[in-house]
Amino acid sequence: MSKIFDTIFLDRDGTISHDPYGYINSLSEYHFFDYTFEALEILSKYTNKFIIVTNQSGLASGKIDIENLEEINSFIYKEFEKRNLPLKKIYFSENYDEGYDSMRKPGIGMFVKAKEDFNIDLSKSLMIGDSIVDMQVGDRLDMKTIFLLTGFGKEYLAEVKDKCDPNFIAKDLLEASKEIVSI
Ligand SMILES: [Mg+2]
Repeated sequence: MSKIFDTIFLDRDGTISHDPYGYINSLSEYHFFDYTFEALEILSKYTNKFIIVTNQSGLASGKIDIENLEEINSFIYKEFEKRNLPLKKIYFSENYDEGYDSMRKPGIGMFVKAKEDFNIDLSKSLMIGDSIVDMQVGDRLDMKTIFLLTGFGKEYLAEVKDKCDPNFIAKDLLEASKEIVSI
């Protein structure tokens, strides 16, 4: 199978894991979807690099403690590593900075950093997420995009259809992984 994507960028909450409250501040509250690793195994046929890009403004508002976020990150790295899934890095934005270059999605900051760190061709990469900001940043960088109806996806659907142009809208990450050849 050819590696058709340089990198697959994944949002975290609502994309690979549940997003019950809009933020998560402990490892005990952090749960992958039951199909997440089945989906990632399929997606790994199409790329050599996964990168997680996640807005965690709860750090700035005090809803999330950095120690807890780091504990969750370690857990995620370990779960990917166990299955030989090539997770290169988890990038997170800590604040509410708005603006085109901001680290917070739809700002392009995390992606520019990843591009420099791992020599990524963004135009040959894919962004998967459940929020309009995931689709907006994908559009800004000319990436392919897949919009998921998990997490907050159903709430954003109308706005995404109006303002963005996802290559595919999938019920969840598993469906996205199975349809990826068609985009
Ligand atoms: Mg999300």
